[in-house]
Amino acid sequence: MEDKVQLFSPGSLGTCWYGKYHYMEPWVGCAHACPYCYARTRGAVTNSLEERETTFEKPALLMERSELLREIEREAGSGRLEILKLCRYTDIFTPEFVADGLALEILRILASSRVRRIILTTKGLPDEDLIQLMIAHREKFSYNLAARPSCVVEGSVLAGFDAGLTPLEPRLEAGARLAAAGVQTTVHMDPFVAGLDDADQALLPFLDRLKRHRLHRVMFSYLLFSNRIMPTMEAAVPAEALEEIMASYDFSGAHKVLPGQEDTASYSLRNDVIRDSVEKTATILQERGFDFVLCSLKSVRGLSTRKFSRSMLCDGKFYA
Ligand code: SF4
Repeated sequence: MEDKVQLFSPGSLGTCWYGKYHYMEPWVGCAHACPYCYARTRGAVTNSLEERETTFEKPALLMERSELLREIEREAGSGRLEILKLCRYTDIFTPEFVADGLALEILRILASSRVRRIILTTKGLPDEDLIQLMIAHREKFSYNLAARPSCVVEGSVLAGFDAGLTPLEPRLEAGARLAAAGVQTTVHMDPFVAGLDDADQALLPFLDRLKRHRLHRVMFSYLLFSNRIMPTMEAAVPAEALEEIMASYDFSGAHKVLPGQEDTASYSLRNDVIRDSVEKTATILQERGFDFVLCSLKSVRGLSTRKFSRSMLCDGKFYA
């Protein structure tokens, strides 16, 4: 059977699997169109886009709207879903579906369903109704705002990473309101680019802004390369800068996130680069009093975790 995007799917071994997660994908494609996004390269996504005769940047609902809402209500009420992650291949706050109220309708259903925890990661901007809904159900939501330090640097070579996103300030303001109202709120510095996002002129002012908004929880994970993101990366990042970023990567062997699935093969930073970057970033986060974890660090050799006051390795519970 051809691999297609499913409305609900269980988390799988090899991805972030510390709890019994399910993923929900109400539509296929994402208007944020981040150039590094692995979703557009996954077989399930390309098959489903093709079937709907659309492109990744023009998301299409998985089914007709009223049927979609009925299906979500049915499954969320079944007792089979305990922890739900939104989303793996798209962003629940895709602007079009915030504007037309669909994101709100979906979250309303989930908030009053039997689902115990809703872990939402977004580069989008929730509107007032969405913010109020999450506050009203604060015990159910984990709000994760993804933003990278170099987006505060004027003229950054990574400006193309943020071209399709709402500017940082309103997103931080939304996160600050949710955090202040008791919704667990974590900033994901993702994808973190060694040499650029950990540079003083990016990281320090970015962390200052988080502090000003009383956002004290941070997670970070590094940019991965794969052959299939190269066309969008080449279009978004100046050639010389891209070459420099790639020089820090080990292209000798691909790591497959999911065993046997070629479309999940990716390349990581060289060990010496990631070790130095992690040590620098973690030291600064610790000095400034952030509560933080680093995602996918198990394979970094020579990292002195003893220097830091808490285990930096994500145990999957930090933002669950
Ligand atoms: S917001 Fe997330 S799902 Fe959407 S394009 Fe960017 S990385 Fe991909």
